Amino acid sequence: MKKHNFSAGPCILPQEVFKEASQAILDFNGSGLSILEISHRSPAFVSVMEEAQSLALELLGLKDKGYKALFLQGGASTQFLMVAYNLLEKKAAYLNTGTWSTKAIKEARLFGDVAEVASSKDKNFNYIPKSFSIPDDADYFHCTSNNTIFGTQIKEFPSTSKPLVCDMSSDIFSRELDFSKFDLIYAGAQKNMGPAGTTLVVIKEDILGKVSREIPSMMSYATHISKDSMFNTPAVYAVYVSMLTLRWIKAKGGIKAMEELNNRKAELIYAEIDRNPLFKGFAAKEDRSPMNATFNLTDESHKETFDKLWKDAGVNGLNGHRSVGGYRASMYNALPLESVQMVVDLMQELERQI
Ligand code: PLP
Repeated sequence: MKKHNFSAGPCILPQEVFKEASQAILDFNGSGLSILEISHRSPAFVSVMEEAQSLALELLGLKDKGYKALFLQGGASTQFLMVAYNLLEKKAAYLNTGTWSTKAIKEARLFGDVAEVASSKDKNFNYIPKSFSIPDDADYFHCTSNNTIFGTQIKEFPSTSKPLVCDMSSDIFSRELDFSKFDLIYAGAQKNMGPAGTTLVVIKEDILGKVSREIPSMMSYATHISKDSMFNTPAVYAVYVSMLTLRWIKAKGGIKAMEELNNRKAELIYAEIDRNPLFKGFAAKEDRSPMNATFNLTDESHKETFDKLWKDAGVNGLNGHRSVGGYRASMYNALPLESVQMVVDLMQELERQI
């Protein structure tokens, strides 16, 4: 029986994608070869890479607007340092909204001054700071759109004349935004897009070439742009599966359709969290993430009963991250509404049982 998968990753994809992806391991498009054994320089794989790049830009509404899409390796964590390596000359501004922002700040400090413009650490990152200013002498502003661990999401991005850099690892392709406001977007594939192993970087080319340091080839966006993400062997399978997911998103109606379903799922679970006296939400209401709903029991003595209920019902991955405790329902694009209904039913069942 297929489980209801609320895990924070990696990676939650539609069944159709898993089926096509597994067939390609045995025989890629009738070629008699596995996707894992074809050359990454073969026309067959080059066209996979090109389609993945093109679909990423198309879905974000960034085609023909001076952006390049890259599929790199090293996860979003490598982007923490690559961003600073390529863009930080003297000073950068960072908004600190959680564990991932904190890690990005740590790496950036190796390259220059970091102005932490605001932080929500005072309340264990359960909200998004709203009032802050970006210093005039900052080379760029960095933020994390969705805080996977704490379940908060930035709804309004600041208007700034500085290059806007955003870690969208856990909500890429989940909601409509004016993506042309951003100069650099990065996202580890492994939530909404594909298996772990590749990272999407969407970059406006004109922000490059402004730092004086020498940048090692593998760390340089310019290198990867000039070689179309083929400077070194790309993560062939992860890029292929990402391409299949991007096709699936497009066929379903694009980001708009994803957002509509994601909003329905989020409304369903948050309504129950707010109604049911046995639960309380962790994140500030106005900052709640539709991707990761974090909540706790109001009385921890019910933990054993609730845990047994959801585990017996075939629900996977509902445990909260250790820094928040309680529960976290990660509801990425591919999670069906019925799975969320199942958890809501179980929350109501707990209420009946005690
Ligand atoms: N940024 C965010 C928002 C994340 O959720 C994660 C991982 O969950 C990361 C960065 C780190 O990504 P990676 O493991 O690909 O380095």
